[in-house]
Amino acid sequence: MGKATGFLEYQRQVPTEVGVVERITGWGEFSVPLQEEQLRTQGARCMDCGTPFCHVGRIISGMASGCPVHNLIPEWNDLVYRGNWKEALKRLHKTNNFPEFTGRVCPAPCEGACTVGMNGNPVTIKSIEKAIIDKGFAEGWITPKIPEARTGKKIAVVGSGPAGLACGDQLNQAGHEVTIYERADRVGGLLMYGIPNMKLDKATVQRRVDLLEAEGITFITGTEVGKDISTQQLSEQYDAVVLCGGATVARDLIVEGRELQGIHQAMEFLTGTTRSLLDSRLEDNNYVSAKGKNVVVIGGGDTGTDCVATAIRQGCLSVKQLEIMPELPATRQANNPWPEYPKVLKRDYGQQEATTLYGHDPRHYLTSTQQFIGNAKGQVKGVKVSQIEWQQGSRVPTEVAGSEQVLDADLVLLALGFTGPEETMFAELNIERYSSHQQHQGQGNKFNYTTSAPGVFVAGDMRRGQSLVVWAIHEGRQVAHEVDCYLMGNSQLRL
Ligand SMILES: Cc1cc2nc3c(=O)[nH]c(=O)nc-3n(C[C@H](O)[C@H](O)[C@H](O)COP(=O)(O)OP(=O)(O)OC[C@H]3O[C@@H](n4cnc5c(N)ncnc54)[C@H](O)[C@@H]3O)c2cc1C
Ligand code: SF4
Repeated sequence: MGKATGFLEYQRQVPTEVGVVERITGWGEFSVPLQEEQLRTQGARCMDCGTPFCHVGRIISGMASGCPVHNLIPEWNDLVYRGNWKEALKRLHKTNNFPEFTGRVCPAPCEGACTVGMNGNPVTIKSIEKAIIDKGFAEGWITPKIPEARTGKKIAVVGSGPAGLACGDQLNQAGHEVTIYERADRVGGLLMYGIPNMKLDKATVQRRVDLLEAEGITFITGTEVGKDISTQQLSEQYDAVVLCGGATVARDLIVEGRELQGIHQAMEFLTGTTRSLLDSRLEDNNYVSAKGKNVVVIGGGDTGTDCVATAIRQGCLSVKQLEIMPELPATRQANNPWPEYPKVLKRDYGQQEATTLYGHDPRHYLTSTQQFIGNAKGQVKGVKVSQIEWQQGSRVPTEVAGSEQVLDADLVLLALGFTGPEETMFAELNIERYSSHQQHQGQGNKFNYTTSAPGVFVAGDMRRGQSLVVWAIHEGRQVAHEVDCYLMGNSQLRL
């Protein structure tokens, strides 16, 4: 718990942020951590609610409610309140392999399910999580934990995103020999090339990768399974194979003018920028640039927001973000009760930055793209859009007559989500798709990571579809348990 009366005495406090004008001049993280005394006070707000929903981690009404890795939140809130940070760190690492990632980028479904949040503002759980792990690293408490005994079993993990890393970490700690194959030139999946540096500094990702390497995991980068080495070869060479390749197939928008130059997938834009930033501080110009351009981002989700913030840092002339759905309400509605994830309007960093710079929120709601318009050189110059309406019960919107307009656009970024995983590795092993390994939306934590190929497992976004870092870590831990049972007959790994 924390202090018995803490939730009555103290107000919620969250970290402040570096001002927009200053932070958009660079690519660094911009959250200003709370001071130790403030964090202890925030920990004191945890109210010993008897049945804490914050750590449940279930899908309710299609969204996560509570912490998917079942972090022992009330325990570490109490330990922080009492100033026992080292013990808090121990508890945190019991359930979460990478709190430095979730403490930065998790949308915190725990806070939506916090009991204090029923009648007030929830405990600032995510900031406390980040503070515990950051202190652990700063104090030098986190050192390589090298397994004392090895089992002689060899496991290949394909993909080094949070699912692959969590799976590899667990299996390495169980004494197995783990090799992680990664197609990209750097390890980390979307933690490295996806989530922008200002949300998650890449030195933080690399620090964990270095630790995992020191603990005995082998990373092989620049190697695409299915091309440089076949999935079949892996399954012959290793005792088990875990596919954690993510849900990388981006959704496209096939309308007239799609072939024009200047229309890119969000991932091409974000990945190129981060790679160039890491390789040369953007001096190699080896990325799609928004500098001096009118930018239209199609997609109102988090990836779209990352594109807005990246375009701003590159010096775009203007940026608009198109969203097909209506604006969310400011507060929870009756049909979205606690402990469901609150479906309320967020003003995320990209929108804050655009509002400060251009005087208005970049989002255009209920807006559908009809056509891309180009010039004589085949370069996109505009996006023809129209307003739409959603009729009750209909899945297809209707266009509002006479609402068409053309938005200036020299660069269009498609941030429409992902349709699922690539097929190559499944096809090479004749794995039945949409059967044993495919978790359909809303089925919660179904615990079955096997595939129709013996000794081959699947986890993370590759299994559940595009998701969150915290779900990927959860899946990495669960698949590791299943692999350990497959190899050894049982497993001591904590789920
Ligand atoms: C732009 C963006 C921003 C996001 N922001 C957030 C956020 O703020 N918070 C949050 O919680 N979630 C966020 N997400 C979602 C989150 O990043 C993913 O849910 C999570 O990374 C999935 O982890 P994963 O390990 O399953 O897959 P990934 O992270 O996608 O990793 C898969 C890895 O497998 C590799 N791979 C694929 N095929 C092969 C192959 N054949 N051979 C070798 N390697 C292969 C890929 O190169 C990749 O590195 C974001 C996603 C995107 C796209
Ligand atoms: S991982 Fe996410 S849901 Fe879990 S405690 Fe941290 S912020 Fe909350």
